[in-house]
Amino acid sequence: MELTFWGVRGSIPTPGEGTRRWGGNSSCLELRHPGCVPVVLDCGTGARHLGMKLMGERDRKVDVVFTHLHMDHVFGLPFFVPIYAPGFDVHITVPAFNDTDAREKLGRYLNGVYHPTRINEVPADVSYSGIRPGRSFDRGGFHVRTVSLNHPGGSVAYRFEVDGRSVAYVTDTAPFAKPGQGVAAGEAPVPAERRIVDFLRDCDLVVYDTMYDLDEYLEKMTWGHSYPEYAVAMCTAAGVKHLSLFHHLPDASDEALDRLEATWAAHEGPLKVSVAKEGLTLEV
Ligand SMILES: [Zn+2]
Ligand SMILES: [Zn+2]
Repeated sequence: MELTFWGVRGSIPTPGEGTRRWGGNSSCLELRHPGCVPVVLDCGTGARHLGMKLMGERDRKVDVVFTHLHMDHVFGLPFFVPIYAPGFDVHITVPAFNDTDAREKLGRYLNGVYHPTRINEVPADVSYSGIRPGRSFDRGGFHVRTVSLNHPGGSVAYRFEVDGRSVAYVTDTAPFAKPGQGVAAGEAPVPAERRIVDFLRDCDLVVYDTMYDLDEYLEKMTWGHSYPEYAVAMCTAAGVKHLSLFHHLPDASDEALDRLEATWAAHEGPLKVSVAKEGLTLEV
């Protein structure tokens, strides 16, 4: 599998001199495997360039999967050009009660008020799946598992498996235990953590929300985001091979992300830790 980062920023796009090297687009990833339908993970502003790339390819089929519908994850959908291409097969998966609910949820955003595009009237062949967290499904050649996360309004993690390899996308989420308990305290996972640890068990690559540092998390515990030491503890407990720190704080400058990378490059143990960078492709 190949995973490419088209947007790594959380909450709001952050263009400008201070974020030029690590990237300012909001959450959007591309997952590829030969013979499988390409998967777009969230449609933050990074989806604009990804959509243009897909338009240059021969196969006109894509699966778009949403963790949740906060704006930083859907900003890019009306600028994702495949939805305007007649005959392009776009399947959209949204956390929802059912397929109709999935379409209606996106329709509340793309209804002509907040953007001129009405999602129900675009020229592509768009279809919808509503996914309830905890369910599994097969799509485009991948086996996909899901689990619910700890985020205001909810968010869903996805684990894609094919040919014995696995990639998980875990954003947006706060820790699952109080400070001083569970994996962050060096103890066994509490039950809510166990659910996620089992989900991530032996995963080859996990992309995990680490928007805050520990101090920021302690100030904003109900805002629904984690910090690197917590993601490392969860992935270590699960036997994950490679963790990619993701959903960077809007205030995180290139220099701050350089420091984050240097800190975690020195991490010892079986878990490799790196930092998600716009334009980077990871091979699994
Ligand atoms: Zn977000
Ligand atoms: Zn969110």
